[in-house]
Amino acid sequence: MTTVTHLKGTRAALDGDPFLSVRDLHVQFATEDGMVRAVDGLSFDVEKGTTIGIVGESGSGKSVTSLAVLGLHHPQTTSISGEIYLDGRQLIGAPRSALERLRGNKMAMIFQDPLTALSPYHTVGQQISETYRRHTKASKKEAHDRAVQMLTRVGIPQPKMRADDYPHQFSGGMRQRAMIAMALVCDPDLLIADEPTTALDVTVQAQILDLLKDLQQQTGTAIILITHDLGVVANTAHNVLVMYAGRAVERGSVHEVLSAPQHPYTWGLLSSMPRLTTPVDVPLRPVGGTPPSLIDLPAGCPFHPRCDHTNAVLSPMNCTTMRPQIPHEDTRGAACHLTLQQRQDIFVRNIQPRLG
Ligand code: SF4
Repeated sequence: MTTVTHLKGTRAALDGDPFLSVRDLHVQFATEDGMVRAVDGLSFDVEKGTTIGIVGESGSGKSVTSLAVLGLHHPQTTSISGEIYLDGRQLIGAPRSALERLRGNKMAMIFQDPLTALSPYHTVGQQISETYRRHTKASKKEAHDRAVQMLTRVGIPQPKMRADDYPHQFSGGMRQRAMIAMALVCDPDLLIADEPTTALDVTVQAQILDLLKDLQQQTGTAIILITHDLGVVANTAHNVLVMYAGRAVERGSVHEVLSAPQHPYTWGLLSSMPRLTTPVDVPLRPVGGTPPSLIDLPAGCPFHPRCDHTNAVLSPMNCTTMRPQIPHEDTRGAACHLTLQQRQDIFVRNIQPRLG
């Protein structure tokens, strides 16, 4: 990345700088049981008009990362360090008022469960138009027209009429469309979608993911898609970041990671996924063991208690003593002490035949 001078937490976005750049992000929470290291040195970039899928099990740090980007952590109980640049502006340490202005205007979020994110006491149209008015000088009439326009854009039938409905009068898929309309009403440059389709049935899920792709093509929005489902990533994202225990264990383009994954944890995730080509009598293989406690992370590679490949490492002790990392500047790589050649050989010999 280009070296630039920091000026009061802001730097000029230079040609070639990523639109969103997260560098060495650490997020820790103080709890009665000890310090939770929820995100532990994470780096990634997102360009305009592209989607990065952040994948991992519950507790891997995916959602905490997105809340850090949005500046939604409680300052009293959370400690955040590192750098988050959005279009050249440093977000860590930025005043709350500046972050509030950016939320909705430059960046927005859609949540897994629209019923908890939408107010049951206001109509869908009111909620979208209020969001618009908070960030613009629009009149009530202009904001209402904008809400109807957004409902049309996300495919709600009879949008003028449905704008006067309350969220409970919408189906699950329509509520998620309404949430997307609300998130996009101010044309944000960055959209964070946290498990946006988990609560929906498969057909509606595909419609919502297609909608996000269409809207991205029209607006050039950068999207962070948080999911535990590599199938969703395969259909929607350009790049993937696989997270484990608050760290990046693998990253690359969707094609690179899904066709030639390099990390034993990614192999485990792929082996646990049902596929059309998997014979019905072949059982799925969940990743063995359980994720580690984020208060007491294992030394070395945090995946070592669950890894089947430590004996293949030249010095297996390294797995329990040395933390493997992907260099910040590498767009493709995996955090593992196995050599690249070993990982490629193990994948082709042992893992690929299982995936079909
Ligand atoms: Fe497994 Fe060792 Fe690689 Fe970690 S570093 S994934 S424990 S082989």
